[in-house]
Amino acid sequence: MDIRYFEEYGITAGITQVPDRSDVRRAEMAEELKARGGYLIRPCLTHGVNVYPITRQFLEGKPSYIEIEDCDGMVTDLPDVALTSTHGDCIPLYAYDPVKKVIGLAHAGWRGTVNGIAAVLALTMIKTYGCDPSDIRTVVGPGIGCCCFEVSEDVAREFIEKMPWCEDYIDEGAKEGKYMIDLKGINAELFKMFGITNTEISPVCTYEDENCWSYRRNGTDKRMLAYIKL
Ligand SMILES: [Zn+2]
Repeated sequence: MDIRYFEEYGITAGITQVPDRSDVRRAEMAEELKARGGYLIRPCLTHGVNVYPITRQFLEGKPSYIEIEDCDGMVTDLPDVALTSTHGDCIPLYAYDPVKKVIGLAHAGWRGTVNGIAAVLALTMIKTYGCDPSDIRTVVGPGIGCCCFEVSEDVAREFIEKMPWCEDYIDEGAKEGKYMIDLKGINAELFKMFGITNTEISPVCTYEDENCWSYRRNGTDKRMLAYIKL
């Protein structure tokens, strides 16, 4: 059973859970969309901060299943386009503007978080699509929680150097020289900086929850599929 978001707005958004596999679910979703003349976007994730607007012009001449190189986020206002990404501890960021009818999805691991992919997602919606931040709803989805995301000092230092304010989201770990980072809190804070205050933070920690695939827990190559479509 998927965890669903934005259901009250009548759009399709969510994330799959165990035993579903992202590759199987994505193939099913792509088939269904193809039959209806729609498109499915698969970003080739690199833990970067590239967020692409999916426009009619971009789709021209492309097949219904589209892979985008070096991409960790997408935004669109097209009703026939499904945005997808895969997750196994990294956090899915969902965004929806019910006024402008614009959706966004991004993949935020620690690298994407520290380099501000939430900010790039917000700015793409605001600058490229003219969304008013006060209209935008966001979800910081299931991912590894502060309870389990232990990092070494160099990672913690990178966060403090790039975003000094995120000190509030970093705790000393139980082990010497280790730190616990609240990636979900930092992403929600980034949204807030751009005026997006209507954010739901998922309580699900993928490392602890057996309904989630977790790379850190057992090194699995299986992933959960995050998706959003108008
Ligand atoms: Zn946890």
